[in-house]
Amino acid sequence: MLLRGRRPGVPAGLLAMMLLLVACTLLIYPLAHLTRVSSLGVVYLLGVVVISTFWGLWMGISMSVLSATAFNFFHLPPVGRFTIADIRNWVALGAFVVAAVAVSSVSELARHRFEESVRRRAEADLTAEMAQLLLARAGVDEALSLIGRRIAAVFDLASVRVALGAQSGDPRHESIPLVADGERFGTLLIPAGIPQRTRERIGAGVVPALTAVLRAALDRERLVAEAVQTEGLRRSEAIKTAVLRAVSHDLRSPLTAMITAGAAVRAPGITAPERDELGGLVQQEGTRLAKLIDDLLDLSRLEANAVSRRVAECSVEEVIDSALASQPESSEFDVRVEPDLPPVRADFVQVERAVANVLENAVRYSAGHPVVVRARRLRDRVTIRVADRGPGISPADQERIFEPFYRAAGRAGAERPDADRRPGPDRGSDHAGSGLGLAIARGFVETNGGRIRVESAPGRGSVFVIELPAASDPGGGA
Ligand code: ADP
Repeated sequence: MLLRGRRPGVPAGLLAMMLLLVACTLLIYPLAHLTRVSSLGVVYLLGVVVISTFWGLWMGISMSVLSATAFNFFHLPPVGRFTIADIRNWVALGAFVVAAVAVSSVSELARHRFEESVRRRAEADLTAEMAQLLLARAGVDEALSLIGRRIAAVFDLASVRVALGAQSGDPRHESIPLVADGERFGTLLIPAGIPQRTRERIGAGVVPALTAVLRAALDRERLVAEAVQTEGLRRSEAIKTAVLRAVSHDLRSPLTAMITAGAAVRAPGITAPERDELGGLVQQEGTRLAKLIDDLLDLSRLEANAVSRRVAECSVEEVIDSALASQPESSEFDVRVEPDLPPVRADFVQVERAVANVLENAVRYSAGHPVVVRARRLRDRVTIRVADRGPGISPADQERIFEPFYRAAGRAGAERPDADRRPGPDRGSDHAGSGLGLAIARGFVETNGGRIRVESAPGRGSVFVIELPAASDPGGGA
């Protein structure tokens, strides 16, 4: 633990030497009564070990020489003089000096080894940390500035910078290229004129690891960007294909019906009730066609992020009333709006449209049961829940039903392996939907800062929940 710190300064070393010399010299006096004094030189070795461990080889050797001198002066006969009477004491003193110098060298070596192992550990930790910073985080730029700071801390340098691409050094900074497969993709900038050993350690210990992880992080970023682009292309291709199919089928079938009805009206001998029926058919198919075209236009605007909004404070009660008014007259609703519900900040028409689409589905699937509508406040949001007692939606379909042109199987939970995006009359139900209603609802709700989700279990009905930011919320509707 003590070795971990930096070496204490020379003045502290000199003071420690003096104190240890005095302590060892005094300690020998009582011991001299117990054994031969010439064998007690070993006591000074304690001081030598301490000094050489903390202050290095040269201070250790100085301590050895001073210890030998003090031992001779204070303890070897004739005491109080630097001469030695007995030849055997010369041998004892010589042996002491040799042992003390050896101890100093060993202590210095141990300290050196220890420092080296601490350095290596710090460098290994640095490599792991660099990998963690670069590969576990999202932004390479942010990770690089943290890595620069960590390298500077480990090597005790004023500043270190890791930059992308080739950067040249300047009088105050040396630039080390980061190269992989012959391509220079980054630069490590370290202060100029640092000790050669530190420079070598950075070159051998940091540069290869940094090169490898930075390369991997850049490759990963590129792959992610490519994947996002590919996904975007795939999605827009899928939508184009679905729009084409919708045009070829969903638009064509009402048109065909209208053309056929138009021709039939002109047929000779047609009765008044028949004409009336054919007129009704033309009107019905025309309305369906107009709605489909509106939906397609809305969807393409939402997909292109080109929806403009007229944001205002909207009463949730009015939104619900207006959405209910657009439902077939035969539909039954059980509506409860919490009193004092705050308004929402949103585009009224868009939110009303989202609620109407959800209501329309609920009415369609609830098999005659009343549809339950609840609106209440939940912290800074207002939630509108629309619950039906229909067939429910399988977990696999719950997210997909919000995708454009996706229509789940008529019976919840039923497998439908064929192309999900295929437009046309709903297979499994008598509803000729286009699969656009919920995609548009989600688009409008999210454009207005809200969220829409479904809670459902097959056979137990579905609850669609629309959450919108309450107007009192300062970030609402942003
Ligand atoms: P559409 O109703 O025109 O097909 P939507 O986007 O409105 O298109 O709905 C997508 C699909 O989600 C529907 O085809 C239906 O399978 C399913 N769905 C929507 N609402 C409900 C509901 N309340 N209960 C059961 N299934 C529903």
